[in-house]
Amino acid sequence: MMTAVTVTMTAVTVTMTGVTVMVTAVGGTVMAVTDSRGVYRMLEPSSAVNAPVRDPRQVLAAAARLFYERGWMMGTAGNLSLRLADGTFWITASGKQKGRLQPEDFLRVATGGEVVERGRAEDRPSAETSIHEAIYRLFPEAWACFHVHSIPGNVAARLTADDSLRLPPLEMIKGLGVWEEEPEIDLPVFRNHAHVPRIAEEMASRFQAEPPRVPGFLIRDHGLTAWGRDADAALNHVELFEYIFGYMAAARTVGLP
Ligand SMILES: [Zn+2]
Repeated sequence: MMTAVTVTMTAVTVTMTGVTVMVTAVGGTVMAVTDSRGVYRMLEPSSAVNAPVRDPRQVLAAAARLFYERGWMMGTAGNLSLRLADGTFWITASGKQKGRLQPEDFLRVATGGEVVERGRAEDRPSAETSIHEAIYRLFPEAWACFHVHSIPGNVAARLTADDSLRLPPLEMIKGLGVWEEEPEIDLPVFRNHAHVPRIAEEMASRFQAEPPRVPGFLIRDHGLTAWGRDADAALNHVELFEYIFGYMAAARTVGLP
């Protein structure tokens, strides 16, 4: 059940020792700091003082390397994004090798798809930018969104012809935010339309009517998209989903339902 809340959001620009810093606060709590080099850090209320400064592009490149090494982001497949306090988000440029991304391989995109910052003049945002944009529009709590193409994910989506996939009641489901005993979770599965914005539209209209119980979905014969409140949470969710998909594929090979 989604609840509407009203918050006061303020952004203050402060210049200290030559570096301009934008501080974003929600309801009096400092949430994020962005300096004039574009270095951004999101702060947890409890760790506001000691949070490390990390360039979001380096955070995304590190996640992509990890996914590449696990075989979930082979070649140029997949895309990753991280949203900033101003509502824009960094996303992988189209056609980049995911095992060796550099900061210039990302673009910063505003709501509506306009590129506001890019590493190279000729680069275009990922073909699946419309999906990331829809996720951020639908889920205010989502600050990072990762999309991978894995073999277990594609095998799992083939285990049903339906538009959702019943997940086994594994302990790992708790990490996706469901703490029920014997949970009955149906993971949404979408058709892999060649025109990606059509996938984003179908996903948005379905999730507006019924928000998903877990932070992710599958596109059949394509891959997983998962999100979280920061890059670590999104990465954790991808790992949990991939574990579950791997289990489902392995269970079938030994005759389990
Ligand atoms: Zn894809």
